[in-house]
Amino acid sequence: MTTLIWFRNDLRSLDNTALVHAARHAREHNEPLRAVFITTPGQWQQHHTSLRQQNLIAAALNALQETLAKLGIALDVINGDTFNEVPDQLGLYAKKHAASALFANREYLLNEIRRDEAVDAALEIPCHWHHDRLLMEPGTVLNGSGEPYKVFTPFAKAWKAALAERDPSPLRRPRALGDALPSPRPFKRFCERADIDGWPADEDAALKQLRSFCSETVEDYAKQRDFPAVAGTSRLSAALAIGLLSPRQCLARLRAEHTRSDGADTWLNELIWREFYQHVAYHFPRVVKGKAYKPETDNIRWNTSKQDFEAWCEGKTGFPIVDAGMRQLKQTGWMHNRLRMITASFLVKDLHIDWRWGEQYFMSQLIDGEFAANNGGWQWAASTGTDAAPYFRVFNPTTQGQRFDPNGHFIREFVPELAELNSRQIHQPPSQENYPTPIVDHKQAREHAIAMFKAVQ
Ligand code: FAD
Repeated sequence: MTTLIWFRNDLRSLDNTALVHAARHAREHNEPLRAVFITTPGQWQQHHTSLRQQNLIAAALNALQETLAKLGIALDVINGDTFNEVPDQLGLYAKKHAASALFANREYLLNEIRRDEAVDAALEIPCHWHHDRLLMEPGTVLNGSGEPYKVFTPFAKAWKAALAERDPSPLRRPRALGDALPSPRPFKRFCERADIDGWPADEDAALKQLRSFCSETVEDYAKQRDFPAVAGTSRLSAALAIGLLSPRQCLARLRAEHTRSDGADTWLNELIWREFYQHVAYHFPRVVKGKAYKPETDNIRWNTSKQDFEAWCEGKTGFPIVDAGMRQLKQTGWMHNRLRMITASFLVKDLHIDWRWGEQYFMSQLIDGEFAANNGGWQWAASTGTDAAPYFRVFNPTTQGQRFDPNGHFIREFVPELAELNSRQIHQPPSQENYPTPIVDHKQAREHAIAMFKAVQ
């Protein structure tokens, strides 16, 4: 008999709850432990998962395979298509290896939950599902009436109180289950190539980045995190998205370096935002089905101009900070949080385009694309979500640029056509041949956006 562990978006050997339990089961039953990952290119396409993220997963799997081999655990990759085929594929795999039990960490999004329920029903062996992806799993942070929170601040307060009752220490890597396996051959490529240079692609690299962020940068995080020209944030989002790193590891490192500082408190808050949006997606599954959290906003008549959308995607709107952000996304697969807010607001409130178009485009480009955070961020910016900015609050893209990129350093890096302009002109460039004039008048666009939202209240 064999014990099985099924890896999904938890591609690490340290602090992995399912792996610890699977190893214990294998040891107690004196049987080998085998690991499996199923590629789902059809599902990734439906979820608009970026090629960069798929490449990161591929690199992470090769690294994980090596780490597991040293522990005596073989990792197999099964090439699949969508979630629909997974129960049969896992069933066959379990039979082939005479599996006694399957272990995996839970995921909290609707399609993933349905997939796991189907697996549980299809397999003839016990399936053990563990909470691991969040510090506080959905259902553990509820208000006095037992309802999920819809606003972040009280959620964060309750989250911290609930965490204080827990031991959030990371778990150790399991001891080797036998002799190390021979050095494994890398897996066959399962996706088209895309550049992931500079992103941690294995758990050691992710941990190293976490350590240096916590020792060198987090102190100033509260002051620097809003300035895209400054490397003031952790850039760990991709590692967290595919589970090279766990939030417990983040918290433990943060606490090891800092008892209290504004920077550390603010960073912890961001980790709580990550949890908040996962809870929202779990408790209000309509947001996973393409619906706005605020149903009335689904009656808005959006602008469907492909040309406007294209200008936004390509970073050619004539608003320098918007264009710099959109070009950063396309060129690097990542965008600074302040710019995600500015560009998202611009698409919805200045171009009046459906936030879902932007949500989908972001997913198709982001190396850190994660449904709950992306959907939450978009619905916040579009004023359609749980804890949304009020609809009459509209970012002014010019003053946002002046405030958060005062010298224009960031704009110059991504919009080289404007590199020669001084720090005043760069936010409102004089007309020049190689850079578009603004595609909308912000003042009018703002009034129109407010009217659009008012009409459906
Ligand atoms: P840090 O500032 O170092 O924050 C640490 C970690 O906290 C991040 O790695 C991330 O896991 C989490 N986090 C930070 N801010 C948020 C937030 N507002 N919501 C949820 N989690 C957060 N984040 C994603 O991980 N994936 C996405 O697909 C995504 N899409 C977004 C779309 C929009 C429109 C907006 C406004 C935000 C989005 N975010 C998303 C949140 C945030 O922009 C990124 O997490 C952050 O920029 C990643 O950089 P970092 O790792 O340096 O973050």
